[in-house]
Amino acid sequence: MISLYDSLPVIHGTGEILTDSKNDWRNTKLRNEAVAKSFENENSKSMLGRFTRMMDCGAYLKFAVSPSGDKRLFSANFCRDRMCPGCQKRRSLVIFHQVKNICSSIQKDFPTYKYLLLTLTVPNVKADQLSDEIKHLHASWKRMSDRAFFKKSIKGWFRALEVTYNGDRDDFHPHIHVLLCVPSGYFKKNYINQKQWLEYWNDSERSLDEWQALGVRRADGTALPNVDVRAALVMPDDINGRMFLAYDNYKVLMHWNRSYYFATSVGYLSDRIGYPKI
Ligand SMILES: [Zn+2]
Repeated sequence: MISLYDSLPVIHGTGEILTDSKNDWRNTKLRNEAVAKSFENENSKSMLGRFTRMMDCGAYLKFAVSPSGDKRLFSANFCRDRMCPGCQKRRSLVIFHQVKNICSSIQKDFPTYKYLLLTLTVPNVKADQLSDEIKHLHASWKRMSDRAFFKKSIKGWFRALEVTYNGDRDDFHPHIHVLLCVPSGYFKKNYINQKQWLEYWNDSERSLDEWQALGVRRADGTALPNVDVRAALVMPDDINGRMFLAYDNYKVLMHWNRSYYFATSVGYLSDRIGYPKI
């Protein structure tokens, strides 16, 4: 495919310092180097590779220039590392525009639909527990969003994971931001208030001990197994129908492998969603 830009003359290394009125990319690059340097002393080949790629991220930038002098980024050597502040910021801008376009398109077909932002959290954890806690968080979300109350009230949703770090306590705070699309009647019918959301969220996962204490038994009436796993009560048909206790293997159904990439997107998204027309 021949790009529109291929016919433009190439000017090498103008040395010009470009500015972007909306984003402080210089600061982003400084943060990128700080993160990269934290990999430098890790004694592994792959970490050294990440260090090199991340330090190199954005080392060259090609811009296309319109006749009026406007510049537009055309290509660059970005590292695309999930921990790179610059690459994640650009990714967040892309996701923001994708979600915005989807919302605008829905707005045309269903002008009365409304949008809500929901944040779901779990307690802070240390670094060695973070991976497991994120898996639990996503499993809990899956369990909650599979429930009948959710399907009845919510037309669609977009979810993103954000993990913040507390340097004073040296722990992490994983949480999910969700954009929910609801019909206009939601506030009159099927409305879920904050307290109910909290109950549903807390209900989505418990240890087997807790379920046992709540009176949950196997279908044949015997006690639950005495093992240290967390499980969610799944009610595909709602409260009067079938009930299952779902253990960790339920997670294999989850598509969570790409979620890290959402890390910084939603902070930006939630800043912008407060504005009208989205
Ligand atoms: Zn990068």
